Amino acid sequence: NSGDRVPALVIGSGYGGAVTALRLTQAGIDTHVVEMGRSWDTPGADGKIFCGMLNPDKRSTWLSTSTDQPVSNFMGFGINKSVDKYVGVLDSEKFSGIKVYQGRGVGGGSLANGGMAVTPKRAWFEEILPSVDSNEMYNTFFPRANATLGVNTIDQTWFESTPWYQFARTGRKTAQRSGFATTFVPNVYDFEYMKKEAAGQVTKSGLGGEVIYGNNAGKKSLDKTYLAQASATGKLTITTLHRVTKVAPAAGAGYDVTMEQIDEQGNVVATKTVTADKVFFAAGSVGTSKLLVAMKAQGILPNLSGEVGEGWGNNGNIMVGRANHMWDATGKDQATIPTMGIDNWSDPAAPIFAEIAPLPAGLETYVSLYLAITKNPERARFQFNSGTGKVDLSWAQSQNQKGIDMAKAVFDKINQKEGTIYRTDLFGVVKTWGDHFTYHPLGGCVLNKATDNYGRLNGYPGLYVMDGALVPGNTGVNPFVTITALAERNIDKIIATDMH
Ligand code: FAD
Repeated sequence: NSGDRVPALVIGSGYGGAVTALRLTQAGIDTHVVEMGRSWDTPGADGKIFCGMLNPDKRSTWLSTSTDQPVSNFMGFGINKSVDKYVGVLDSEKFSGIKVYQGRGVGGGSLANGGMAVTPKRAWFEEILPSVDSNEMYNTFFPRANATLGVNTIDQTWFESTPWYQFARTGRKTAQRSGFATTFVPNVYDFEYMKKEAAGQVTKSGLGGEVIYGNNAGKKSLDKTYLAQASATGKLTITTLHRVTKVAPAAGAGYDVTMEQIDEQGNVVATKTVTADKVFFAAGSVGTSKLLVAMKAQGILPNLSGEVGEGWGNNGNIMVGRANHMWDATGKDQATIPTMGIDNWSDPAAPIFAEIAPLPAGLETYVSLYLAITKNPERARFQFNSGTGKVDLSWAQSQNQKGIDMAKAVFDKINQKEGTIYRTDLFGVVKTWGDHFTYHPLGGCVLNKATDNYGRLNGYPGLYVMDGALVPGNTGVNPFVTITALAERNIDKIIATDMH
């Protein structure tokens, strides 16, 4: 309620926010999380909480009248659908040169993502975050993150025989025939549940075409792990459908946090201000960076570092599809949960880590789809636009060229060996490379640059950054394990030294 005073306020309930909430509440601190999305705990008229990918409705999409699927086309047809405007789970936030997909709701990205839980390569982690003690990370905080997230691996015997992963086996075979290494990838989707789905014993989710608009079962999203544990302490309050718009020093001590309450169609129905002793920014790379850049430019937090807004990257994301021969089918039945990757990261000529992605269309497509994380060194910045009052992101689509070249080196070789071609009908009417969007926004408030070495915002005691904004642009693998473990490390230090 307006006028309240709270000890700790967390903006956002994704990975950074959920870790912060759990560790603060376990330390006995009353913690208030403010989340602009809804809580995904109540079924709709069809008895389901989330809608599937092949029959999306308003629950799919954040405040838009149309879905905006990453694979937007198929054989010359656009496959997006009209939906009612609603606070749906997947947002595609549009900047001039890139679209950024993000999850919305209690659990943030964990609601919409593919669950791939990958610990980054140690040498690369040490290169991007040299100020972080990597022994501590790899001995304590990565294991802690993986355990609390509920990461598991697929039963490899089952993987080899199930029709649901034929697409991954075909992707592996074609990569290996060209000399590329492949690797199994851990996930937070419960693979034992998936086996029961395949056996017809439980309701299908990962085998039922559900993932980017939410999974009705199987996936251990943050609301089932970190946030459920935090809630069990009795010290957690989550306020949904509230969007933080301003954080300003309060008279006396602490910070005034202004927020807009929205209804399920996104209309602002109230504006409130509460005062917090400590404020943890966990609105995601984009959300946190936008808030801080605006606060600095508007003179509300003028002493923030000039590094705020800098160092943003798309984790090198490039998507592409190949057309296999008819004797290399990918299967009409496909699990939505990826579990295999091509690991070519150590090859300086083509450094990529590519997820072999499903394309669960319900029919045989012969397509091998990949989400490549390339070692693209390009970065961009967030800047306040005084004309529009909004924050722009400087990323230009041409900055993807280096990433495309790296991915092309790998997939050209596979195509050459197999005598196959790219699919040009998946990302537009004729467009090979899915380079106009990212799933993996990182940076904008980089650790030990825009903040101190633990996420404290310089010049403003009691303000912290806890999310993907801390990670400098590219972590070489799917990012949520990195974000979670870094948040575990930082909150450990902050509770020990700042919270008394
Ligand atoms: P987020 O998880 O984005 O959480 C931020 C939260 O803050 C959101 O809930 C948002 O609604 C809320 N918020 C934002 N602004 C405000 C505000 N002003 N006021 C109140 N609340 C606010 N990563 C992997 O590692 N493996 C994968 O398999 C994978 N697959 C993906 C698939 C898809 C479709 C997408 C979209 C992402 C995927 N990712 C994956 C990326 C991963 O989900 C993100 O890296 C991760 O969620 C980022 O965590 P975060 O804590 O930085 O922010």
